[in-house]
Amino acid sequence: MKFGTKTIHAGVHPDPTTGAIMTPIYQTSTYVQRSPGDHKGYEYSRTHNPTRTQLQDALAALDNGQHGLAFASGMAATDCIVKLLKPGDEVISTNDLYGGSYRIFTKVYEPLGIKFHFVPMHDMASVREKVNERTKLIWVETPTNPLLNVIDIAAAAAVAKEAGALLVVDNTFSTPYLQTPLDLGADLVVYSLTKYMGGHSDVVMGAIVLKDDELHERLRFLQNACGGTPGPQDCFLVLRGLKTLHIRMQRHCENGRAIAEYLQAHPKVGKVYWPGFEQHPNHEVAAKQMRDFGGMISFVLDGDRKEDAIAVLEKLELFALAESLGGVESLCGHPATMTHASIPAEERLKAGLSDSLIRLSVGIEDVEDLIEDLKQAIG
Ligand SMILES: *Cc1c(COP(=O)(O)O)cnc(C)c1O
Repeated sequence: MKFGTKTIHAGVHPDPTTGAIMTPIYQTSTYVQRSPGDHKGYEYSRTHNPTRTQLQDALAALDNGQHGLAFASGMAATDCIVKLLKPGDEVISTNDLYGGSYRIFTKVYEPLGIKFHFVPMHDMASVREKVNERTKLIWVETPTNPLLNVIDIAAAAAVAKEAGALLVVDNTFSTPYLQTPLDLGADLVVYSLTKYMGGHSDVVMGAIVLKDDELHERLRFLQNACGGTPGPQDCFLVLRGLKTLHIRMQRHCENGRAIAEYLQAHPKVGKVYWPGFEQHPNHEVAAKQMRDFGGMISFVLDGDRKEDAIAVLEKLELFALAESLGGVESLCGHPATMTHASIPAEERLKAGLSDSLIRLSVGIEDVEDLIEDLKQAIG
């Protein structure tokens, strides 16, 4: 089945009792048993819920995996994966990681005895340098947020395999429309479904997709034991969002290209970060592993002054100033004070994230209107 057909049909089936074509919201916590232990596969909704099951199956199909696991947020999914580790284990990740992932790693798991190395992962030699017998996870996010560096997933998979570590790819920015990490050798794909997958800025959810049965059993155990599971209404919203993933992503990419090119040609704009540019340092890797380049763009203004960036953000009208990304509507943000404020200033600057950086999540509006808005704000 091709991707656009899968977004609509994979994992879901008409309701067996009524024929309802859309997956019902099974708003129930428990299920009646005929006799103790004699039930229809559902006992308690933290463990299983039919709406969640269909979403999990749809997610597995979209990423060419065998199993999907849905969580109450992207962070709950991340948390579940890190719980596979023990004190003394080590993780290698990228130095311009999503701020919330950096926070859970350093503030929650480091004090519990797990060691994290943050390296510029678009240079795979920096990963190899940190590999040792205690390395258990290699955690990739690509393109990175907000600097849009691209990490070579197949190369990271080779390093992980040699080290006997699991490769995790946070695929939130790309979605399976742009890249399917399991096909490139990743062991686990993790999502914030809150972003492009849900796509409508109306739900917070997360997921893990994988192939391996044994690893799935361990994660499913943790999902139920720790209980970070989503409610059925949220699962329904993501199922609904997924049905248009392919056409939304196509438009995000088209609009992203037009805006990246507009910004790059603008005399008052400095560096523009977008992996679709041929001169982007990782463009070759991006072109190899991605189907297109997405709608996330970061840029700085000429002169690189924070006050100028704030002024532009205040003037933008169609681009709403808000955290998050990946919805149908365009958003803008200031990573240094918003999404990445939990990363110390020194670490931020080391990773190249300047205080004047503006991040755009380009929506699926008519691009002429978006460009008009940028024109009036930048001047
Ligand atoms: C938003 C986001 C997360 C966290 O997801 P939540 O749903 O907000 O918990 C993780 N990784 C990336 C890349 C994100 O953008």
